[in-house]
Amino acid sequence: MSPASAAAWVVAVLVSVVSAVALTVLVRQRDRVRVELARTDPLTGLGNRRALHETAEPLLDRDGRLGLLLLDLDGFKDVNDTLGHAAGDEVLVQVATVLAATLGDRGTITRLGGDEFAVLVPDPQDGDRGVAELEVLSKRLLAALAVGDLHAGVVPIDLQGSIGIAVSGPDGRSLGELLQRADIAMYAAKRARVGVLRYDAASDPHSTGALELLGQLRAAMDADQLALHYQPKVSGDGGRLLGFEALVRWNHPVRGLLLPADFLPFVERTHLIHALTRWVLITALRQAATWRAQGLQTSMAVNISAVSLDSGLLGIVEEALALTRWNPADLVLEITETAIIHDPVGARAVVERLRERGVRVAVDDFGAGSTSLVHLRGLAVHELKIDRQFVSELVAHPEDDVIVSSVIALAHKLGLAVVAEGVETGAAADRLCALGCDELQGFYFARPLPADQAMAWARAEGMAGAAVELR
Ligand code: C2E
Ligand code: CA
Ligand code: CA
Repeated sequence: MSPASAAAWVVAVLVSVVSAVALTVLVRQRDRVRVELARTDPLTGLGNRRALHETAEPLLDRDGRLGLLLLDLDGFKDVNDTLGHAAGDEVLVQVATVLAATLGDRGTITRLGGDEFAVLVPDPQDGDRGVAELEVLSKRLLAALAVGDLHAGVVPIDLQGSIGIAVSGPDGRSLGELLQRADIAMYAAKRARVGVLRYDAASDPHSTGALELLGQLRAAMDADQLALHYQPKVSGDGGRLLGFEALVRWNHPVRGLLLPADFLPFVERTHLIHALTRWVLITALRQAATWRAQGLQTSMAVNISAVSLDSGLLGIVEEALALTRWNPADLVLEITETAIIHDPVGARAVVERLRERGVRVAVDDFGAGSTSLVHLRGLAVHELKIDRQFVSELVAHPEDDVIVSSVIALAHKLGLAVVAEGVETGAAADRLCALGCDELQGFYFARPLPADQAMAWARAEGMAGAAVELR
């Protein structure tokens, strides 16, 4: 081989080696791009469901701790329906950006499809502290959406979301299990309008015990196993009976007397809650009408679950008022502050209509949530019920005294009546009276009682018929 042809040969070999290497690099790059595309959501650029699996499964296989947050936008369908899919897509991209920026490097966010996002949080702390950490993170994500300046074109979009939390270990071992449980928690959060909920097996309507109870509840309503107990509400000086609060009980044939906490949480996750609300309203007003006929003149308060606080409630109230010929001004509907805060627009509209109808509305458990009176501004309610955690140890804890006295003063300035619940001692009753509290309720006066005992109590206290000093 001449030197020239040898050189040409070397060059040829070099070229082919280099191009082979280049080709390999290109093929690898192409494959990587393909893999990336397969795990990427084309709209938002976030990971997709496959990416979620590929991130979570190795961690779960190694028994690593993992938090899963499932986020679904509330009312996103309205954006699509009213502004069109292009506008919906535009908003989803902004939502993805806001969420990713808020999450930072604390986890991985993926879009599962539609308006559903999943966040994987590796290594949350152990036990309750980990759950608390995940709740804080979830609230941060929702808060970021609320101030996220979302818009479709020039139209500002106000979107909220609901998040369900599942934690590997207690809530499931596989990703499939965690997704299913986070989904249940997310729907529960959505229905209860509370923003964030962690999965709770006890209130999972799909867990066997709960399903069984739910099945029985339908029958219980017909079989007179449900009952209302009535707890008196008296005037601030303890001297006059002003009304009763109806509290539901279930005389379960096998389990005995069940309290609301034993069955309400999962009833609230099904449409049965509307039937229950209707039953409670009608039963309570029938009882009140009977007492009225017997000379016991009082108002009647009924608790309304957050999930029942929709336009359907107005029909139920109308029906109960008509059936019992009850005066709307003597009906009080107690709704929790969390229900109002999470869906201020919807709740406001319902409360407004109830007020127009002449029904009184009370904000229950006031102070238990993270609300301030500012949130209630402009809301057409009549009463505030101070949560019993501030009332029951009022005398022992000066801080509670400060909270209660400022709530009373502020509420009065806003023209609201104040009810203290959980009054357990004479000392608390005296202090509340001195602070100008309008109504008192609690074990100190009476526990919730079956109807006949409630009437007997009113007679014994000299309250059936005439206003008589109690203490
Ligand atoms: P709530 O509306 O805050 O009702 C007051 C609860 O405090 C009742 O518990 C009552 O028994 C209890 N309580 C009353 N006085 C005292 C006291 O002095 N000290 C203490 N420690 N507790 C007192 P209950 O009957 O177990 O009801 C729990 C919750 O279940 C209620 O809280 C209410 O949110 C809900 N609930 C009850 N009945 C109904 C209903 O018919 N419909 C709906 N949606 N919710 C209901
Ligand atoms: Ca209540
Ligand atoms: Ca309460």
